[in-house]
Amino acid sequence: MIMVVSAMVSSLYYDLYKKQIIDTKIIQLNGRIENLLLRSEYELNYVKSYLRQKIESKEASLIFNAKQSGNNLPAPDVTEFLNLFVNQKNSANDNSPVINDLIVFDANQQMIVHINTLDPFAVPILKITTKEIMEQTGEQGAPNKISQYHFFLDSPYLNQIPSLYILQAFSHYQLYSKSFYDSNDDIYVAQAKLDSNFFKKEIKALVEQHHGYLNYQFIDKKSSVDKLSFSSTPFQINENGSYQGSFKSALFDIILTLNKNYFAEQLNNILIKFLLLNLILITLSYWLLIWLIDQQIILPITKLAKSVKAVEASLVVELTPLTSKDEVADLNESYMSLIHKINDQANNDSLTGLANRGSFNEKLASVQNVRQKNQTYVALFFIDLDNFKYVNDNFGHDTGDRLLIAFSQRLKKTLRVEDKFISGDMINSIARLGGDEFVILMNGLPSIEAIESIGKRISNIFYDGFSLGEDKFDVHASIGIAYSNDLKKNGETLLTQADDAMYLAKRAGKNNYKLFSDEIKEKMLFEKNIEIELINAYSDDQFSLVFMPCYSAETLALKGYEVLLRCPILKDAGIGPDIFIPIAENSDIILAIDLWVAEETVNRLAEVIQKNGFTGFFSFNVSSKSLRNDKFYTILKKILASSDINPKQLELEITETCLMPDDHQAVASLNQLKSLGIRIAIDDFGTGYTSFGQILNYPLDTLKIDRSFVTNLRITPAGKKPTLDIIFELAKAYQLNVIVEGVEMQADFEHVKTLGCDIVQGFYFSKPRTWTEVLKQCGQLHQLVKKRGQHKKIACYG
Ligand code: C2E
Ligand code: CA
Ligand code: CA
Repeated sequence: MIMVVSAMVSSLYYDLYKKQIIDTKIIQLNGRIENLLLRSEYELNYVKSYLRQKIESKEASLIFNAKQSGNNLPAPDVTEFLNLFVNQKNSANDNSPVINDLIVFDANQQMIVHINTLDPFAVPILKITTKEIMEQTGEQGAPNKISQYHFFLDSPYLNQIPSLYILQAFSHYQLYSKSFYDSNDDIYVAQAKLDSNFFKKEIKALVEQHHGYLNYQFIDKKSSVDKLSFSSTPFQINENGSYQGSFKSALFDIILTLNKNYFAEQLNNILIKFLLLNLILITLSYWLLIWLIDQQIILPITKLAKSVKAVEASLVVELTPLTSKDEVADLNESYMSLIHKINDQANNDSLTGLANRGSFNEKLASVQNVRQKNQTYVALFFIDLDNFKYVNDNFGHDTGDRLLIAFSQRLKKTLRVEDKFISGDMINSIARLGGDEFVILMNGLPSIEAIESIGKRISNIFYDGFSLGEDKFDVHASIGIAYSNDLKKNGETLLTQADDAMYLAKRAGKNNYKLFSDEIKEKMLFEKNIEIELINAYSDDQFSLVFMPCYSAETLALKGYEVLLRCPILKDAGIGPDIFIPIAENSDIILAIDLWVAEETVNRLAEVIQKNGFTGFFSFNVSSKSLRNDKFYTILKKILASSDINPKQLELEITETCLMPDDHQAVASLNQLKSLGIRIAIDDFGTGYTSFGQILNYPLDTLKIDRSFVTNLRITPAGKKPTLDIIFELAKAYQLNVIVEGVEMQADFEHVKTLGCDIVQGFYFSKPRTWTEVLKQCGQLHQLVKKRGQHKKIACYG
């Protein structure tokens, strides 16, 4: 673009310039010719009048008269006079034409005087005879016509300007009186050869000045004229493109031709200059443009791109705002806000605004680099909300989100109080790791007591549940704390230890905090080993079942069995299901175990029905984790479908503690299971927080009163045992079976019997039995029934 514009402007300018150059030259040349013309006319007139003045002077007349009268030519006098005249003329003005040769001759062609200033011995050349002059005058003896001029050109040499001859006829009488002038004999002719230095010089100068581009052509037109004047034609372009002008007279023309190449060369120079200028201009503007683009666009954009890349790589580099007010600055600003947003998203949890897992991990990684001043502690608090999932599932995610936001705000507020404990280089951070997991990293804590007090403060947030506006949720926090006052522990270790401590805090029950200790470490190790043993036992098919008989409280007839899991390897180490089941529940192995137990129970039930016509129930325990696992229902459905047992003889026990008030999901799952035709029992009733009213939402058949009730009955003074009464009454009202567990002695049995319990189980009646024992017991009962002749299948062996 720059090139095109510059080329256009240049060409326009060049055209103007060219015209101007030519015009100027032509004007100049015309001026020179005009000058030549004026000067030539002036000089000719000057010489003419000078010559005439001298020849027709009194002196000349006297001399010629004397000569006439004496018959002898007073040649010396005339010569002297004329020499003087010539010399006077030639020395008069340097620039005026010079008389080189002067001849005066009489009517008979008799030479009277010949003066040649250049060559004294030069042969006189007469251009015309006196007679010829006289003839040309027409009227003989007319004295007023004698005095006239004739002009001749010297024969020109090739292209050289010749000299001019001026001839003047005169008579020495004419000055005196007419009467003397009567014969042609009295006529003289003066022939002066003139050389115009000025003229020749001027032409030569013109030619030289134009370095051979200006030529002149001399055209000889006539040999003589009696009148001479000059004219000129101005320079004009001719058909060849050259410029021509002329200097004209009757005798000769001088045609001056200025070759067109004269301008071509000059213009070429200018063109080259123009091109060079253009080139320089284009190059300069190109580089200026490049520089400007570089400075104003590329440099800021590259800088921006670099910063963006750096931000992309580390998410820490800040962009600097640009001071300029252009598009690049706008772009920079947009990037800045975008990066801020991305940074925010990358580092912060979008819901609570706390740090997220990523940025927390970064903080954690720097833990080891922080020197603990004066033996202060760095502590990591791992907080997991209990029952949060329940809130989310049953009150909606909005409520869940609100709860998390409220908690994070209360957490921050609580920790602000604790700031006074903190000193030194802080790397404190509160982060949400995801879901309902929060972590706090605190530095410079003075003592373990201080650490513990923070744990206490956090769990106090949940004192009596978590209130959100008008509502109160049964949500609590399990807090695990890991700490260190040396550089041995790195951040990762702290996090695992806090996580382990949290896990144990959760196991210990509602709203608990636990500091990581060697004991916890051992416990975690122990549990990890148990988990491994359970996985191995499952894959090696090492699990077995025992069966706890349940009896009618009234008749003591066998009503059924509760199927209980055994792991022989662990049993040898004194570890029963009360220990290993909660461990299994923390791992996915429980899902496999529960399904194994379910299938095994169905098979055993089928077997005992088939072998002994068993009509009682088999109940089996299912972990809450399985209840929330969709596969459990589908697989149980398949198991039942492939067996021909009556599903009514199968009872599923679910622990009360895993049921929450208004737990819609649990209700849905239980309804689904219930739809298989099996019975549902709630286990360990009384240990959870389900009110009786809420229990009615569940599709229940049986309530299993927790063993602790029976134990409590033993120590409760008589007359103060209302709780169980009410339960029995209500259970009856809602047609629920009531089973009392843990009847260990006669007194227990007496108690529960009077309260109106349906079924009892406990060591008082029997310890859990092996399968052989079950088959034996059922076999004997079967025989008994047979003997009594009761072939009808009844639900109870009485
Ligand atoms: P649970 O469901 O309450 O089972 C009853 C537990 O109480 C059994 O212990 C049983 O042996 C014990 N027991 C029965 N009568 C008495 C008595 O009079 N006195 C005393 N002290 N104990 C009595 P076990 O077999 O050790 O089971 C413990 C817990 O393990 C069970 O409590 C149940 O929650 C869980 N469990 C056992 N088997 C399974 C299973 O197959 N699957 C699942 N998910 N959990 C199981
Ligand atoms: Ca049970
Ligand atoms: Ca129980």
